[in-house]
Amino acid sequence: MKADLHLHTTASDGRLSPQEIVRKASQLGLDVIAITDHDSVEGIPPALEAAKSFPQLLVIPGVEINTDMPRGEAHILGYFIDYHDPELNHSLKELRNSRYERGRKMIAKLADIGIEIDWERVLELATGGTIGRPHIAQAMVERGYISSLHEAFAKYIGRNGPAYIERKKLTPLDAVELILNAGGLPFLAHPADIEYLEAFVSQLKEAGMAGLEVYYAKYSPSKIGRLQALAKKYDLIASGGSDYHGLDNTIGANIGSVDLPPNLVEQFISLAERRRMVIP
Ligand code: AMP
Ligand code: ZN
Ligand code: FE
Ligand code: FE
Repeated sequence: MKADLHLHTTASDGRLSPQEIVRKASQLGLDVIAITDHDSVEGIPPALEAAKSFPQLLVIPGVEINTDMPRGEAHILGYFIDYHDPELNHSLKELRNSRYERGRKMIAKLADIGIEIDWERVLELATGGTIGRPHIAQAMVERGYISSLHEAFAKYIGRNGPAYIERKKLTPLDAVELILNAGGLPFLAHPADIEYLEAFVSQLKEAGMAGLEVYYAKYSPSKIGRLQALAKKYDLIASGGSDYHGLDNTIGANIGSVDLPPNLVEQFISLAERRRMVIP
């Protein structure tokens, strides 16, 4: 049993289309994947459609919502969401609109410090999906201003960078509630670097959070052990994935590159069954 429960597509800042992700996952012999685009569920219908040609592969509808913390961010994953839910779609659309405005303003701020990027090029790179800072970073790499996507964040567009602009974000609790209301299971993504993690986890658990992303690419065995213990203590399900974006190697890891325990993968399949998803 192999799974990757954290994948980005062209519906947000991933390089591969939903169809390409499904084909690639199938070629790699994965049994379960989750499509988890930033603030968008638009990659899900094409992924489910493409999955009809690969009956051994289970595709779980998901989403990833970036929320603000006093210092840093918390990313909330939602699995098994009803991606037709009107309230969910309305809220995600608002978040995407705010990203559009923020992106334009960041381009202007970059121009002020001598970095000339075409907004049109950023829109082209975003291919109609959720606009993210990685699209701006790609345009900067193309123009030779920097040599890696990480460098864009470290020098210019990270939260403390000179070209950073705020955008509308949900609070972590609002994101948990939005996912629950859309019939989904909220999980805390890549939790290791969150400050006061245990207090935060306890608060989100109280609000209905279902799990923690314990098995994340680049997490050391000791980090994974610490997160396993935390998940157990608060009766949370573990999940895991690569956070594949298909961009350069400073964002996420390769699709299928995180080893999830087989019983965890089976737990996800039985969750899907209980939620009456179509299982091959
Ligand atoms: P945004 O969605 O516009 O807030 O951009 C955040 C996304 O950019 C994250 O989900 C990551 O995929 C990526 N990202 C954030 N920080 C970094 C970083 N330091 N280096 C490279 N990519 C990053
Ligand atoms: Zn991303
Ligand atoms: Fe994330
Ligand atoms: Fe992600």
